[in-house]
Amino acid sequence: MTPDHEQARAVLREVFGHAEFRGLQGEVIGEVLAGRDALAVLPTGGGKSLCYQIPALLRPGVGLVISPLIALMHDQVDALRQLGVRAARIDSGLSPEERARAWRSLTAGELDLIYLSPEGLMQGVLERLMAAPVALVAIDEAHCVSQWGHDFRPEYRALGRLADLFPGVPRLAVTATADARTREDIRGQLRLGRASEFVASFARPELALSAEAKRDGARRRVGDLVAARKSQSGVVYCGSRDGSEALAERLADQGVKARAYHAGLDKTVRHERSDWFRSEEDAVMVATIAFGMGIDKPDVRFVIHADPPASIEAYWQEVGRAGRDGELADGITLYGASDMAWALERIRRRELPEEVAQVQTRKVRQLYAMLGGATCRAQAVRRYFGEADAAPCGRCDRCLTPPAGIDASEAARKALSAVQRLGGRFGRGRLVDHLLGRTKGVSEDEAGMSTFGVGQEVDPGEWRDLIEQLLFEGLLVERPNDGRPLIALADRDAVREVYRGERKLTVLKTSKAGPARGRTRRADLGRRMSDIEEPLFEALRAWRREEAARQGLPPYVIFHDRTLAEIARHRPPDRAALLAIDGVGHAKLERYGEAVLGFCAAPGAER
Ligand code: ADP
Ligand code: ZN
Repeated sequence: MTPDHEQARAVLREVFGHAEFRGLQGEVIGEVLAGRDALAVLPTGGGKSLCYQIPALLRPGVGLVISPLIALMHDQVDALRQLGVRAARIDSGLSPEERARAWRSLTAGELDLIYLSPEGLMQGVLERLMAAPVALVAIDEAHCVSQWGHDFRPEYRALGRLADLFPGVPRLAVTATADARTREDIRGQLRLGRASEFVASFARPELALSAEAKRDGARRRVGDLVAARKSQSGVVYCGSRDGSEALAERLADQGVKARAYHAGLDKTVRHERSDWFRSEEDAVMVATIAFGMGIDKPDVRFVIHADPPASIEAYWQEVGRAGRDGELADGITLYGASDMAWALERIRRRELPEEVAQVQTRKVRQLYAMLGGATCRAQAVRRYFGEADAAPCGRCDRCLTPPAGIDASEAARKALSAVQRLGGRFGRGRLVDHLLGRTKGVSEDEAGMSTFGVGQEVDPGEWRDLIEQLLFEGLLVERPNDGRPLIALADRDAVREVYRGERKLTVLKTSKAGPARGRTRRADLGRRMSDIEEPLFEALRAWRREEAARQGLPPYVIFHDRTLAEIARHRPPDRAALLAIDGVGHAKLERYGEAVLGFCAAPGAER
């Protein structure tokens, strides 16, 4: 072990209060400490921030962190200050006085870390930074630089010049999601040359994943899913601003602490709501993707996609916001063929360069193949990210109840020829009626068709599922038509293969939407605790709530649930024992040690 490595571990223990590096952290930190550039792809919750925070503390000068979202910087700076690290941020949200103060501390060499937004870098800020000794440059959410990624931000393109501006200073690009192509692009755009690449496993064993096809009353279903997760904090993603408002209202009527969040809201309202979300232990945010990067609330217990995400990358990143504290959490996705049709339509409308449009289209198809597929969700995602040998997770809906596939080729032939006869003039409801021979006021023409009433042995719900499947498989297409989409044959060659029996169609026999019940409960944190310890845990949480309110901070910045649970389990008798708990470093020991030990010493843990 090199002396650098020893020092890094000491900082990990003393400042951050963690006993061991997680995953590739140690390697990445070693690389940066040696003064070399690096690209690190670690899953959400994998501990990316320590990869630059620790070297910034050990190398002379200030660590520059470029991060795209103000909320994230805000959180990190708060959390670092709690740890006794000298951190500041410079962004558009600062008052002129705060900004002046940040600059003064920087010039005086009093900062370990400074957070900046990419936009903030343009305005003469860089020149001033170049005058200060810089320990490293970290670029967070580095996939934003790539058009091949799923979250391209043009302002990230300018970050390539950091290479010239800070010669000899190690630069570290970090992201949670980047396939091989995106990684190549990051390397090129950020001019990382031959920098070492660290790609961690994408496994998130604490996530219980599931996906279900939308049925009538899909919003009610979301209501049930949330209701079954009472007093847990979660995010519900919606495809539209209006949708998120309406759903938030619906949940609020149901008695859930829910608010909406989207880019159409006034900036101050958005700030207020994200602060609210961070500080409440049972808040549910109903949001568009505008609520995204930068939420590092560790105790999010569920993410529900009321509308599906845009790609597997987006899925993993969004679902990944649950369970960052490593405790069990749910990721539930509702999806439908019309969602897929819309996603594809949006790509067409954006008039992207052909090559880009193709990549995006493929990403959409891969997402729906995973959602509609029969295999383990986590395994499918990890294979997508290149982990060929990923094993089934044993926790997702597919692992717990493997669906049976039934051959539906015969029914598929009936449906396809009905669409052909009807000439693509009708939507799915009308198509099902035709197959069942139930069309109201049917014309003589239609009644005379050989496909009219040809499918009476199949029930309407099954017909709908089958049509859905034909849409997913690209045999049928749904064309938007003023909100009443029409169904037509898609790929005639493929349809012919089905007619000739060369292509089989399997539908998954899934049960009606499963129970809304969650597999995880907040109280699960206390699973390993005996009854005697539970009151101590609750007392500590109540204390934390007060302490957080007093300092105007989110509770998890003081201590994570996980740390409180550990304390309740071990009931440390003295400072040394408290320091051994994961998440307790020197600064927090000084600040809160006395209060916490007081609770541990109290008989029965009464307050
Ligand atoms: P992300 O990679 O998603 O940005 P963070 O850097 O926010 O992850 O870290 C996620 C959580 O994991 C944080 O709450 C952090 O305290 C915790 N963490 C990071 N590294 C370690 C470690 N080595 N041991 C224990 N907990 C860690
Ligand atoms: Zn699984």
